[in-house]
Amino acid sequence: MNLFSVSSIIIFFASLGLGLIIYADNRKSKLNHSWFLVSVVIALWGLGLWGVTNSLSEKNALLWQYFLDAAGVFIPVLYFNFTLNFLNLEKEKGLARLSAFFAGILLFALSFTRLFKQGMTFKFGFHWVDPGPLYYLFPLIFVFYLGYSATLLFKRYREETGVAKQQIKYVLLSLVFGFSAGATNFFPQLFNSYPFGNYFVILYIFFMSYPVLKHNLFNTKVITTEFFAGAISLVFLFNIFVSKTPSQWALSSFIFILIAIFSFLLVRSVIKEVESKERLEKLTLELRAVNEKLQRLDQAKSEFISIASHQLRTPLTAIRGFSSMILEGDYGPTSPEIKDKVDKIMQSSTRLMALVDDLLTISRIEQGRMKYEWQDRVNLTTMVKSVAEELEQQAKKKELALNLEITPRDLLVRADENKLRQVVMNLIDNAIKYTEKGSITVSLIEESQSAILKVADTGIGISLDGLSRLFQKFSRGERSPRVWTDGTGLGLYVARIILEEHQGKITAYSDGEGRGSEFVVALPLEA
Ligand code: ADP
Repeated sequence: MNLFSVSSIIIFFASLGLGLIIYADNRKSKLNHSWFLVSVVIALWGLGLWGVTNSLSEKNALLWQYFLDAAGVFIPVLYFNFTLNFLNLEKEKGLARLSAFFAGILLFALSFTRLFKQGMTFKFGFHWVDPGPLYYLFPLIFVFYLGYSATLLFKRYREETGVAKQQIKYVLLSLVFGFSAGATNFFPQLFNSYPFGNYFVILYIFFMSYPVLKHNLFNTKVITTEFFAGAISLVFLFNIFVSKTPSQWALSSFIFILIAIFSFLLVRSVIKEVESKERLEKLTLELRAVNEKLQRLDQAKSEFISIASHQLRTPLTAIRGFSSMILEGDYGPTSPEIKDKVDKIMQSSTRLMALVDDLLTISRIEQGRMKYEWQDRVNLTTMVKSVAEELEQQAKKKELALNLEITPRDLLVRADENKLRQVVMNLIDNAIKYTEKGSITVSLIEESQSAILKVADTGIGISLDGLSRLFQKFSRGERSPRVWTDGTGLGLYVARIILEEHQGKITAYSDGEGRGSEFVVALPLEA
């Protein structure tokens, strides 16, 4: 056997092998079918070429040549068919596909006539086909359909991204290398030169293996393992039959059993791996879908809160306005009983208004619509003092001492004054709300370019678990509703967001429930 026929028989086995692996992997997939057909005609063509180049007599060579041509004429046609399947263009290019099949059948029929080949001649050490006048249709159709396939693949390659792009790249490389090498088999007939490319046809398998194995073009991991494990086991099984002595026989049997067990374990582990990978992929997809749905819901929720709060504000303003006019006697004198009830209406609607305002702030934050009115030099010292003064009465009502340890220096910060005031107010107000007896200490000092505000109390304290969730939306401690029923768990969340916008930080400390709390705010000082 010469080198040329060796390369041909290798093409036969390798093509058939890859084709069978892919076919067995998914017998229902059209894509796998179409690749299998390509593999089969290339394999048969390789076998034909082996026969031709290995024949000693001209008659034998001619018989093999019939076989070779009958298979070879379908290579471009079936490859084109595969390309259309691969790119999902079967419907769009239905007519082109039909014409390709027509051309293939025409060439097939022609190949048995003298118009196609007149016999065999001896060239470069082999029998080689002696072309008839219509033989040249074959290279023409070969170049046309493979060129067409390459163009379609290249066009899609430029449009795609990611894994799909990589797949197309290797399919395209396989086509270009494999078939331009294969095309040199026309050289003896066309240019009277040696078909050197035949040695490289096998490259198409290498390039095709890459997208198949690496990028799972046909999902073949399990089947490839089964194929190789089976092949190795068969070789060792064969070894048993050719053993000549009993000891050889025993050894071969032992090795075969080991190999068979190992193959079984290997295949099983690959199956498991593939299964878990598939499960993971499915879960990821599901998770992504759920996540998108949640995001949409979240958006809808923010919009709903925003609209509902706006709608609530108008009637609340009316309720508060009229209540206050009744209380002030604008509609004449009212009995103490009515006054008491209207007072309750007033208090409740004021709390409701505060809640609505908090909700509006939250929806603004979530939709990124929170607006800040920045001032460069806001005096934090006077702000903290004035808030403390404002809340002094409230502390007195609960008989709590409100101690101030405030630096005499004016600490200036860049801030939205109203929003920062809201934060300070919320912290001291919380300290009063969540303390039943003892004292509250508000301190403000300067420490390495920062203003440090501390609000400490001797109140109900915060559990470790509560501390971790404190600055999240709607987070309330377990015991706090008993102390203060009307809380919403929004104040500290809003405070954190506002302070972050101010390049500041808020931290909470507590030794546990019943042991008081301390909130510390740090803000950068204006130079
Ligand atoms: P609200 O006071 O309306 O519930 P906040 O966001 O201001 O909302 O506070 C959230 C929760 O943090 C409170 O419900 C309470 O459990 C806890 N908390 C806040 N400040 C204190 C404090 N000084 N002492 C103990 N717990 C506090």
